[in-house]
Amino acid sequence: MRFDTFVMVDWSGGNDRGAMPKEDAIWACVARHGSADEPEYFRNRQKLEGWLTEVLDAELRAGRTVCAGFDFPFGYPKGFARELTGADDPLALWDWFAERVQDAPKINNRFDLAGEINLLCGGRGPFWGNGRPNHDIAGLPRTKRDYDNLFPDKRAVEQTKAAKGAFTCWQLSGAGAVGSQVIMGLPVLSRLRHRFAGQVAVWPFETLDRPIALIEIWPSLPGLIAAPVPDGIIKDAHQVREVARALAAMGPEALSAHLAVDAPEEGWIFGVPAPRLQPMNLIPPPLRDDCFAMPQGAHWTPVDTALALLRDRLTAVTGSETVAVGDAAGRILSGAVTAVRSHPPHANTAVDGYAFAQGSIGDGPQTLPLLPGRAAAGAPYPDAVPTGQAIRVLTGASLPAGTDTVVLQEDTTTDNVSIAFHGPLKRGANTRKAGEDMQAGADILPAGRQLTAADLGTLTAAGVATVGVRKRLRVAILSTGDELRDANEAATDANIYDANRPMLRAVVARWGYDVIDLGRVGDSQSGVRAALDRGAAQADAILTSGGASAGDEDHVSAALTATGSMALWRIALKPGRPLALGLWQGVPVFGLPGNPVAALICTLIFARPALGQLAGAGWCDPQGFDVPAAFTKSKKDGRREYLRARIRDGKAEVFRSEGSGRVSGLSWATGLVELPDHAVTVVPGTPVRYFPYESFGF
Ligand code: AMP
Ligand code: MG
Repeated sequence: MRFDTFVMVDWSGGNDRGAMPKEDAIWACVARHGSADEPEYFRNRQKLEGWLTEVLDAELRAGRTVCAGFDFPFGYPKGFARELTGADDPLALWDWFAERVQDAPKINNRFDLAGEINLLCGGRGPFWGNGRPNHDIAGLPRTKRDYDNLFPDKRAVEQTKAAKGAFTCWQLSGAGAVGSQVIMGLPVLSRLRHRFAGQVAVWPFETLDRPIALIEIWPSLPGLIAAPVPDGIIKDAHQVREVARALAAMGPEALSAHLAVDAPEEGWIFGVPAPRLQPMNLIPPPLRDDCFAMPQGAHWTPVDTALALLRDRLTAVTGSETVAVGDAAGRILSGAVTAVRSHPPHANTAVDGYAFAQGSIGDGPQTLPLLPGRAAAGAPYPDAVPTGQAIRVLTGASLPAGTDTVVLQEDTTTDNVSIAFHGPLKRGANTRKAGEDMQAGADILPAGRQLTAADLGTLTAAGVATVGVRKRLRVAILSTGDELRDANEAATDANIYDANRPMLRAVVARWGYDVIDLGRVGDSQSGVRAALDRGAAQADAILTSGGASAGDEDHVSAALTATGSMALWRIALKPGRPLALGLWQGVPVFGLPGNPVAALICTLIFARPALGQLAGAGWCDPQGFDVPAAFTKSKKDGRREYLRARIRDGKAEVFRSEGSGRVSGLSWATGLVELPDHAVTVVPGTPVRYFPYESFGF
């Protein structure tokens, strides 16, 4: 999001304040390209409205886009808009107030209107704080007596940690009250919106695709303004200028990140970490019917060709949802995530010691008087530290205003009145700069990232509370073969136990996918078809094992061939016979070989990256590394081979047998050695490529 001009307004709900610039009155400031004009004072709202209309007009005519900020709530707590207007639409509430509020420089009806609203709500709140001395108003209590408010006291945003100090909009008078500002502000915004109809979008209720955006700001938001109010400057004037400058200096990514907020009824305060906009619900396109077609004339397909085909033709099939970061380990990001705030949010000290302005010291022995008090993590020092003085700081404490450098406690001596140490110290010594780790608005994790435990820490540090993730890929698993029995079933010597299903279930679950167990079917067309039907109804992908060749009892191949989408991939790979790939009712089926070793290796080499592609994580190649062989083997040209291997004394040993039915070798091994497609002779010491099981996420 990019704006040319920023106009920030510090609002007031009171009456005309006279000609001389004053505190607690209306102030506004214009900024462009990171630098701000002089703040302007307005004695009343009428003057401000006129000025604002001219500014917006001029900006539009000059073809510039404008972000205009106002420091009062754009909406009320949940339910209020509906009570008054019949709809949850805050903009309808703006118009409702515009019709009823009477506002002249010296008189307005805000207290009377608040009393009427209270009566409309059956006397159950919400407003309080009649600020007119000697004049009681029906329905409007002077103080917040023990009343029963129909509505929440605060909006969701005011209940966040960042906005803890914000006042309730129901309080109409008294120090810090904002209630009157809202009642007197919404009609002005309503009129601006209608005057510039079609050119104004109101955040966060409307899409910001028009030249003027109106946003809600709160200058007291911790971290928004860095510089303390200089002596002799009116606080409001300083604040509007600093806010305008801060926003105008913010990069478009940071602005967009702050503006991506989901608060359609109550509104939100710019800069408060927010519930994120739901990522657009991804509706993935279906896979193409010919996605498993083989290149014409191919007889034996090299592994890399097969992988490249899968990579090109498979696309994500999962939609998206929003989850709390704490629940997101192993989930796949549906979009890139940007930092909601900088980390650290404010410069802080990296050590226990004493902070001061670096300009206070020179070379050689130094003494600085010590101020009473201290700054600790979470307990900042409230005042500015004058040049030439020092303050005690503990690790993690925000650097107090006026300081930029810290001397390590161990390098000082103190009598509790002053500290002594040796200069020089570099400016910024022993401190961490605001945003030195992550900048608000910067991309921190890319779409497709499968979140690790570390990522949850990174996201949380950056103020991200929820993330858009892909729905979990659902993977169905089926075993085929008349000879198979489950572990708990009686078995004759003609039977073998179904080893593949528990193994594949575990590995698929390990990858973070939902497993759907389709059980086991015998060697029959109808059985296999019925099982694939069940799988297609519940899952995004199906893994079968057994029956994948072209023989009489190879019913998975036969069923897929009948759909016309089947390709029997004769992959130049050992172990692994043909891989039957096809679509069953649009759902991809990976027909794996029955032999457990071949089934697992084909799963790791082919199914894993293919499922990653379907799940939205993108393609992932396992990371292997070269180690000296501890074995001897001479291998012919033509097929890539994977050997069950483990590392001992820095060398790769291989399992004593290459038989692909020998499942125990998979347990013996800790990874696979890959031998290239071409002929090689390996003797002890020859470098071979080793892939630990972990590199397959296994
Ligand atoms: P197939 O691919 O169906 O011809 O099976 C090849 C070999 O793998 C045969 O010896 C099968 O008994 C064996 N086999 C197939 N499925 C499994 C399974 N789920 N568990 C263990 N062995 C299997
Ligand atoms: Mg079989």
